[in-house]
Amino acid sequence: MKNLILATVAMMVLATPVGAQTTPHEAKAREIYARIIGFRTAAGHDQTSVMIDYLADVLKNGGVSTADIATIEEGEATAMLVRVSGRGHGRPILFSAHMDVVDARPEEWERDPFTLIEENGAFYGRGATDNKAGVTALVSTILRLKAEEMRPSRDLVFAFVGDEETTMASTRRIAAHPWVKDAEFSINTDAGGGVLDDETGRPLIYLVQGAEKTYATFDLTVTNAGGHSSRPRSDNAIYRLARAVLKVEAHRFPVMSNDLTRAYLGAVGQVQSGAVGEALRRFAADPSDVAAAETLATSPEFIGRTRTTCVATMLDAGHAENALPQTAKAAINCRIFPDVAVETVRDALAAAIADPEVKITTRDEPQASPVSEMRPDVMAAIARAVRAKHPGVPVVPYLESGGTDGKVYRMAGIPTFASSGLFTKPSEMYAHGLNERLPVAAFYEGLDHVYRLAVELGEVRGGG
Ligand SMILES: [Zn+2]
Repeated sequence: MKNLILATVAMMVLATPVGAQTTPHEAKAREIYARIIGFRTAAGHDQTSVMIDYLADVLKNGGVSTADIATIEEGEATAMLVRVSGRGHGRPILFSAHMDVVDARPEEWERDPFTLIEENGAFYGRGATDNKAGVTALVSTILRLKAEEMRPSRDLVFAFVGDEETTMASTRRIAAHPWVKDAEFSINTDAGGGVLDDETGRPLIYLVQGAEKTYATFDLTVTNAGGHSSRPRSDNAIYRLARAVLKVEAHRFPVMSNDLTRAYLGAVGQVQSGAVGEALRRFAADPSDVAAAETLATSPEFIGRTRTTCVATMLDAGHAENALPQTAKAAINCRIFPDVAVETVRDALAAAIADPEVKITTRDEPQASPVSEMRPDVMAAIARAVRAKHPGVPVVPYLESGGTDGKVYRMAGIPTFASSGLFTKPSEMYAHGLNERLPVAAFYEGLDHVYRLAVELGEVRGGG
């Protein structure tokens, strides 16, 4: 009976249109979110500086002075910094979000990716999650601090990055900017967040990103004299490359762990059921447990937390349908465990392929970033912000398997903790993919999360 009443109440809450309950700052944030999803800020579309102009206008109308807005337009870098001046007690705190998105082809989506659409309890649009919800949360926080005439004890600097998904040149510029270079730490909204149980929707755990794997791509290239396709020869660049790629598929890198990953895997194990949950608990207690590591290796969610991974992501071969291939190439994308050198992984791939005719080259100049030691003050502030909405949820650090520009800040000496306020289900991870969406409730919680962190970490007080 009691459960029935609770279920009825829950349905009533769900049935209430969210728009009807929003506060003025939430309504304003939704308007900003809709506008910025309309900018196709993917590489090559030249919309990022247009978006900066829009955001700068919104901020100026909200009381931010021109002197506290800095735009960066140098080479590939396009970014904006906004400063909320403090009372001079301590080094600045940086908050970061990125404005650019992975491109989306409207013809492949069910809805226009560059129009914000609220449907089925979610906001749809490219960047809805990654990372325009974060951009909106930063802008909303600044507007609230200004409207409430609040002032932090030290400078809060808000960074809007223009190319996180590509070169991260603007993140490097930001890290060296006079407002930022002495920052004590940064909060990145581009990762970190809560995990909801896939079936029940119950909040399970909240994760703070404290380190990232190193991102590296190796190109495999096979060349051949080629010839007419009516005269096949015994050696063929495509077949040779294919054999090498299959060797990469079969190769397993050694199992690894550190304090951060053990804390994370152990905490996730406490809330995860089934064979994977048991493997997590056993691995956290004893990382030499081979059977537990094997079970985790079968999970796309956990394989990357326990070892380096490499996977074939692109192929390019041949030049005509009636010619033998002269060149065949494959891109192998690797996510390297912290403290493992890029060269070591390249050597391991070469040994696995064991074919000197397959040339291996390292793309760009991959660099490893340090682990950010968890600060008790930051973790406590994040835990309070999270538990204001989700009481009792464990707050745990984790190692990022993907990649964010947090590593650029860490390499520049700014410890970085990624913490969005977004709670989502693992089965609903749509970043970079088709029909990207974010639960409506998560969007509004994300606004409040960043605001709470700014107020608490910045020791924000009233009175101008
Ligand atoms: Zn992102």
